Amino acid sequence: MSLAPPPERVLSTLNEDGSRFKIYPKVAVGRFHGARRLVGYALIALFVALPYVDIGGKPAILLDLARRQFTFFGATFRPADGFILMLFGLTVVLTVFLVTALAGRVWCGWGCPQTVYLEWVFRPIERLFEGGPSESRKLDERGGLSWRRTAKWAVYAVLAFVLANVFLAYFVSATTVGNWVRSSPAVHPVGFGVVVCVTALMFFDFAYFREQTCVLACPYGRLQSVLLDQHSLIIGYDERRGEPRGKAPGGKRGKALPVVREGAPAVGDCVDCRACVNTCPTGIDIRRGLQMECIGCAQCIDACDVIMDRLERPRGLIRYTSKAELAGKARRFLRPRVLVYPAALAVVAVLFLVQVEARTRADVWILRQEGAPFTQLGDGTVSTPVRIKIENRSAARRTYRVALDDVAAVRVIDPRPDYPLEPGTSTIVPLFVISPRDTFVRGERAARVTVFDDAGWHTTLAVTILGPEGER
Ligand code: SF4
Ligand code: SF4
Repeated sequence: MSLAPPPERVLSTLNEDGSRFKIYPKVAVGRFHGARRLVGYALIALFVALPYVDIGGKPAILLDLARRQFTFFGATFRPADGFILMLFGLTVVLTVFLVTALAGRVWCGWGCPQTVYLEWVFRPIERLFEGGPSESRKLDERGGLSWRRTAKWAVYAVLAFVLANVFLAYFVSATTVGNWVRSSPAVHPVGFGVVVCVTALMFFDFAYFREQTCVLACPYGRLQSVLLDQHSLIIGYDERRGEPRGKAPGGKRGKALPVVREGAPAVGDCVDCRACVNTCPTGIDIRRGLQMECIGCAQCIDACDVIMDRLERPRGLIRYTSKAELAGKARRFLRPRVLVYPAALAVVAVLFLVQVEARTRADVWILRQEGAPFTQLGDGTVSTPVRIKIENRSAARRTYRVALDDVAAVRVIDPRPDYPLEPGTSTIVPLFVISPRDTFVRGERAARVTVFDDAGWHTTLAVTILGPEGER
C-alpha cells in the first residue's frame, strides 16, 4: 500500500522529495531591525569578551570539563558542589520557562548566538560579496564556483576559526587557547584537532546549515507548544484584519483604501505581497498561524509595516501580540504559570544563594598513613605520622595553619608554620606527633586536629594517634 504524499512541504526548509529548500531571506529594515542589530552587536562583544575578563584571577566564565570545574564570575564549583550545580541548573531551566511564558521566543530572535552571529556577521558578509538574496540564488542556480563565493568562504573560514577559538576559550581558558595558537600543532595535537573540528563545524553551520540548526537541531523550538499559552507574547498575523487578503485596488501605493473603514471591509489589509514570507529566515508564512519554525525575529513585522506605510494603513498587521488577542480576547498577564514559575524560581534561587554562601571554604581530610604507623624513639617517646590534606575551595588565595588538640605531654613537628594555597589547589600537611609511650590505650589515643585559614574560618576533625600496645 502506498502512502499518499503530504499536501504540502512538511518543513519550510524541505522540498517534497526531502531535499533542502534553500532560503534567501531579504533584509527588512525597520524599527525592530535597528533594535535587534544594536542588541546583536552588544551581545557579540559580550560573548567574545567574557572568557578574557578576569575576575579574582579567573576568567568570568570557564567550563573546565577536563578538570570538572565550573567558574562563574569568580565562584568555582566542583563535583563536590553537585547540589549547588543542580540548583543552578534548575534556576536556569525555570528562568527559561518563565521568560518563554511571558515573552515567547525572544531569546531565539534577539539573543541566541546562532541568530546573532548569522544575522549580524555572516549574512552581511554574504551580501557584501554576493550582492543580495537574488544574486545568491542566481549563483546557486548557475552552479560552480565564482570568485565572489570563494572570497566569501575564505572570509567565513577565518571568522569560523576566530569564533572557534573564542568558543573553546569558554572550556579551556583564553590563555590555553592563546598557547595553542602560538605553538606548533605537534606540541598539542589534541588541542589542534579540537580547534580544527570546531572551526569546521562553525563553517558548516554558518555557511550551509543555517536555519536548519533552529528548525531541526535545537530542542528549544520543539518545546514551544508546552511552554507557551494563549497569553504569551508571540509574533502573529492579525487574520481578522488582514483577511480576505488580496491585491490593493488599483495596485498603486497610497490612496487605495481609506485608513479607517466603516463596517466590515470587503477586502482585508493584507495585499498578499509576500514581503513577510520573503524576509523570513526560516522560510515560513506567518499568516498560517504560529509555527514551530518561527524564531521570533520580528523581520516579518518590519517587512509588513513598510507595506502598510506605503498603503497608508495602520501598522501592526503582523505584530507582537498573543493568541488570545488575535482571537479577539483580552490578553491576561497574570495566569497560573506566570505565578508558579516565579514562586518556584524564587525558592530555588534563594536555596542556591544560601548554599553558595554556606559552602565550606576548604575541604580537610585525615589521610591513611602509608608505611609504619609509628616509630618508637630511643628516648622512650613515640613518633606518629599524621597526614592532613587541605583543599582551598574559596575564590581567594588563603593561608592555612594546623593545630593539634591532644594530651599535654605531646610535641608536634610541623615542617612549616603555614600553608598558602591558591583557589582550587590542595596540599598535604605531614605532621609528626611525639608522645610519651604511656599515653596510648590499646595502641591508640584520640585527638583533634583544627585547621584555620587567615580569614577567620576553621574546622575541627577527630584523629586517632597510633602507638604501641600494652604499655599502660
Ligand atoms: S507583508 Fe503584510 S501585506 Fe504583505 S503578505 Fe505579509 S501580511 Fe500581507
Ligand atoms: S515568521 Fe516572522 S518572526 Fe517568525 S521567523 Fe519568520 S520572520 Fe521571524
